[in-house]
Amino acid sequence: MSVTQSWEARAEEFSLYGFTDLPSVHDRGTVVVTHGEGPYIFDTNGRKYLDANSGLWNMVAGFDHAGLTQAAKAQFDKFPGYHSFFGRMSDQTVLLSEKLIEVSPFDTGRVFYTNSGSEANDTMVKMLWFLHAAEGKPQKRKILTRWNSYHGVTAVSASMTGKPYNSVFGLPLPGFIHVGSPHYWRFGQEGETEEQFTARLAAELEATIIKEGADTIAGFFAEPVIGAGGVVPPPKGYFQAISKVLAKYDVPLISDEVICGFGRTGSTWGAQTYDFMPDAIISSKALTAGYFPMGAVIIGGTLAQRLQDAIEAIEEFPHGFTASGHPVGCAIALKAIDVVMNEGLADNVNRLSGRMEAGLAEIATSANIGELRGVGYMWALEAVKDRATKTPFDGHLSVSERIANTCTDMGLICRPLGQSVVLCPPFIMTEPQMDEMFEKLDRALKKVFAEVA
Ligand SMILES: *Cc1c(COP(=O)(O)O)cnc(C)c1O
Repeated sequence: MSVTQSWEARAEEFSLYGFTDLPSVHDRGTVVVTHGEGPYIFDTNGRKYLDANSGLWNMVAGFDHAGLTQAAKAQFDKFPGYHSFFGRMSDQTVLLSEKLIEVSPFDTGRVFYTNSGSEANDTMVKMLWFLHAAEGKPQKRKILTRWNSYHGVTAVSASMTGKPYNSVFGLPLPGFIHVGSPHYWRFGQEGETEEQFTARLAAELEATIIKEGADTIAGFFAEPVIGAGGVVPPPKGYFQAISKVLAKYDVPLISDEVICGFGRTGSTWGAQTYDFMPDAIISSKALTAGYFPMGAVIIGGTLAQRLQDAIEAIEEFPHGFTASGHPVGCAIALKAIDVVMNEGLADNVNRLSGRMEAGLAEIATSANIGELRGVGYMWALEAVKDRATKTPFDGHLSVSERIANTCTDMGLICRPLGQSVVLCPPFIMTEPQMDEMFEKLDRALKKVFAEVA
């Protein structure tokens, strides 16, 4: 490596990239990011980008929030690291667990910490396996999720994720079962109403449970709004219908709120936006506003009590990460929750989500946009070759990648997902910044659609 080499060349020489299209990187170079201001990031060439994806859904307070960096610095000075094993735990960890149960939909409950959302899902699966075995049902191990859902990348959470790309790893593992995607616009049948679509999915879920044997199903995991599957809100009555089925067969419902949690959908939890009561919640991403890697499993009272009883019986739950409940992460999370809930960030999402929808709806009048979907501050525009027949563009045209690349060239970061482009800005995004997003996105879409039409 030499200092005469560009940052782009140095990045490509020594880094192994994940979730990155390498031909694009070879062609366009890496955006090497140095710092941020509010919702903007800056690269080594001094270029400025409006990051309409909040980093990776997580940097909801922007990239230089003084309150959050102060909270981090203060905790680093006080006590820069500790674990949560052997009957020891930091004071910040105690405070955060109290706070998480207070802001959760649960009256009581318990919290377990991880370093990521993937590990939190992985941990929840182990908890369910452990619990059912302890309750005399060791065969109750299968995990149900939906096609096109995203739950992470560890061997277990990748098995839960309903994406075809995991076949390169020989995943999913056996016992991970995927039911239908709740995407009405794409999978609703000819003449089928949204309510009928919901009823069909609930019937499919019940048939799957009966076919597999209810006594073999450990739990059902769902994102309130599918995020990395392209921002898919549930069809009408979906969570009410499936909750009924799951309760009938004693299958716990786990709400994967790694994206939805802490205000993204306009309520603290997606479960509140869609009015259902899960047995446990998986949290990460906005939990620390992206200022520290942390995930949390938040278990509701009844399930938490069963789990606690099972652990008391064998005296110790043999699970945990070295950095579980890290004091700096907990101090940052406490501050982040306060910032989001009490310093106007959640209010901003509520105040401006209608404006965001209206602005995107105007852009979506394009003949090559098939669907605009979303809620709160998470939206997707799906590109189509033919709007009437919902025919997608040819895959090799890479339309959504082209749109995202064109946006990047214009100083706007958005994300291609399938044939969709995803916008999930930081909660601090103001009206003028939103207008900048609309203007650049509209220009990029018109340019790309003119090229591929
Ligand atoms: C991002 C995400 C995860 C995985 O979190 P990581 O911190 O990347 O491991 C899990 N579930 C959902 C819904 C996510 O969006």
